[in-house]
Amino acid sequence: MLENWHEQFAETPDCLKSALRRQTVVRVLDLEIGGDEFITMAGPCSVETESQLMATASHVRRAGARILRGGAFKPRSSPYAFQGLGLEGLKMLARAREESGLAIVTEVMSEEDVPLVAEYADILQIGSRSMENYSLLEAAAHSGRPVLLKRGMVATVADLLRSAQCILDHGNPQVILCERGIRTFETAMRNTFDAASIALLKQVSHLPVIADPSHAAGHRDLVPALARIAVAAGADGLLVEVHPNPDKAWSDGEQSLDFAGFDEMMADLDPYLALRGLAPHDRELSQRERGRPRCEAVGSYSMEAVG
Ligand code: PEP
Ligand code: MN
Repeated sequence: MLENWHEQFAETPDCLKSALRRQTVVRVLDLEIGGDEFITMAGPCSVETESQLMATASHVRRAGARILRGGAFKPRSSPYAFQGLGLEGLKMLARAREESGLAIVTEVMSEEDVPLVAEYADILQIGSRSMENYSLLEAAAHSGRPVLLKRGMVATVADLLRSAQCILDHGNPQVILCERGIRTFETAMRNTFDAASIALLKQVSHLPVIADPSHAAGHRDLVPALARIAVAAGADGLLVEVHPNPDKAWSDGEQSLDFAGFDEMMADLDPYLALRGLAPHDRELSQRERGRPRCEAVGSYSMEAVG
């Protein structure tokens, strides 16, 4: 059976499992992605303010996340939407890493920015809209940082693997694949979550595979269900948008979980992780803190700061 898949993906041989290469483990700080631990990356869509980022980092860490996400360079569907804080955002991410101990994943959109982003980030995110930007992939490969490669919204699994192969070809074996939903005729959700692609990629490729239920769903109500599906499909981790006050978020608020919603999602994943023989997320939050009202959870977070 595996042979048939290998024929189908013959163009990207280095991405495929073989007797010699069964699983790539990407190492970031003290973490292993694609190893025995299920790794959740969480944080806001965009870095907005110091207090927004610090409150989120502290909360998601105690709720069991191991990596902080947050965009400083934002690819937006509208050219008039918030484009990100750039260098200022990267500096805030570095401070959040210092304070929380979480590793940082953040998007890089142009090849010229790769050295700068690589200076601050532990993992470079290549967004959906950039998946086929081969000069960016090449520059990201040369940065020496692990690369989180998101599936393009109109990319097939073969297209995704072609882009991964490009990074491997340029000498960087630390690639993490990410299913984040694709465009179909269905419009009720922002994208269509292709859970089968996770199962397929886990079967054919040795690269770690994570899922982004937030961009797939586009609605926060659906995020926990898609996260559970991702665990059941065999994903190695998640990338989830979390914001102290999603309704005031500068980007992607509709699909961002608040702190209580994130806590619930993480707790709901335990039995699904157990079915796979994986340890539950390491949560430090006390019972009292879990699901506490949002206004308490944000502490000194200023509403005014997010306009
Ligand atoms: C993001 O992670 O905020 C993002 C822009 O994702 P995508 O590239 O999948 O749209
Ligand atoms: Mn987003």
